[in-house]
Amino acid sequence: MSEKKVRVRFAPSPTGGLHLGGVRTVLFNYLFAKKHKGNFVLRIEDTDQTRYVDGAEQYILDCLKWCGITPDESPVVGGQYAPYRQSERKPIYREYAEKLVAQGHAYYAFDSAEELDAKRKEVPNFQYGVATRNGLRNSLNLPLQETEKLLHDGTPHVIRIKMPEDDTINFNDMIRGHVSFETNQIDDKVLLKADGMPTYHLAVVVDDYLMKITHAFRGEEWLPSAPVHILLWEYLGWKADMPQWAHLPLILKPDGHGKLSKRDGARLGFPVYAMNWFDAKTGELTPGFRELGFLPEAFLNLLAMLGWNDGTDQEIFTLDEMIEKFSIDRISKAGAKFDFEKAKWYNAEWIKRTDAETLKVKVWEILKAKGIVIKDEAYLLKVIDVVKERCVVLPDFYQQSAYFFQQPAEYDLNAVKPKWTDAKTDFFTAFISILSAEPVDAHELEAKFKALAEEKGLKAGDVMLPFRIMLVGGKFGPHVFDIAKLLGESETIIRIEKAIEAFTA
Ligand code: GLU
Repeated sequence: MSEKKVRVRFAPSPTGGLHLGGVRTVLFNYLFAKKHKGNFVLRIEDTDQTRYVDGAEQYILDCLKWCGITPDESPVVGGQYAPYRQSERKPIYREYAEKLVAQGHAYYAFDSAEELDAKRKEVPNFQYGVATRNGLRNSLNLPLQETEKLLHDGTPHVIRIKMPEDDTINFNDMIRGHVSFETNQIDDKVLLKADGMPTYHLAVVVDDYLMKITHAFRGEEWLPSAPVHILLWEYLGWKADMPQWAHLPLILKPDGHGKLSKRDGARLGFPVYAMNWFDAKTGELTPGFRELGFLPEAFLNLLAMLGWNDGTDQEIFTLDEMIEKFSIDRISKAGAKFDFEKAKWYNAEWIKRTDAETLKVKVWEILKAKGIVIKDEAYLLKVIDVVKERCVVLPDFYQQSAYFFQQPAEYDLNAVKPKWTDAKTDFFTAFISILSAEPVDAHELEAKFKALAEEKGLKAGDVMLPFRIMLVGGKFGPHVFDIAKLLGESETIIRIEKAIEAFTA
């Protein structure tokens, strides 16, 4: 038997920014597809017009682009099963809903919103389903003629699935193993709305079938919907083609209590969205990892590790390595606690591993925005190389490298002034002579510096910190002789002279 080509889909509803859990769903879909030489489909599930938010689809596209994940089929690139936006597929769905009604697996419901509201008030925890549907206005109870008349008159109605009574729905989830649901607990979900649009439940099944999806990865929050989908696959006669399900574990709050929400991010001071999301209605800006200065490689890496590992201690993976190593067996069933400190660690590691040439454009932008003019690209590359291991997020490049482009505007005087002596002035004056002579490498410069200190009866440690503050302004930065070499002898001399004035003033 020939193997079916793997086809997976990410099927977001364009209702706002993308939570990091959403991007992890994208990633796992993508890794699985690429591992099996399959296709990754992006399908926009925009049938709920009331929840539609302008700009959200573009945000999703931009987000995938930032992450370096290119869908094989999408509303933008098209594909064999286009259109990939459900609102453009509206005429497709009714036929299937009607077929279900004809078979007795679904029914017309004419209850108005007011009637249902009244019911909700009357019956605690009301749900339209096995226990209540017989007392409501639907084609299960109304005489056939009345139903026909209501339909003929164009009375607003929806089509609902008829959940079987006293039954159990079983299925096998690739991550969670055997899962079962009691049908009496599940409501008769609306499949087709009064406006003729399908709901998510109908559209997702019809499209997964028509688009020949073989594996469906989605967040655990969709698990309660799975029995409805499974019944639909069965009722529509497609069970043999049903995708294999994989419900991904939740990403939890840092304390492990509940799902990580946008509000947790605001409360604890870290982003939860991939990129900044601006809600035009509320004027609220939800911060994103991208704008905070995360590299997309680091973002994907940390997301992969929220719920997956390759069975070894390896933590840093490139996208290609993840594709190679990915396996569903190694996705954990339990939720993964989000740890922002660990997320930053991934980013710092990725900044260290990324070459200066790749970081150049982003660093350049950051420095430019702070008014730093860069004239020499080769110099910028060298600076990036010496400071990158001190940067956790990209904006750190400003603090860590500004002094390579401009003299310190101020000095940490508290660290030097109280202990300043004439002997130190004398030392640095002599050191200027060394710098004015034939240039030597950083290593040799350090040796000469130390020898001079000894000669002057000073401890090298007593002049090392002042030297750093002279060049940098504060107690930070890479090896001070590397800084001096990169600044060049004449700039180093200028900075020493200027600082001595400040230290002795
Ligand atoms: N449209 C659903 C969402 O917004 C997709 C769930 C699924 O993948 O079935 O996440």
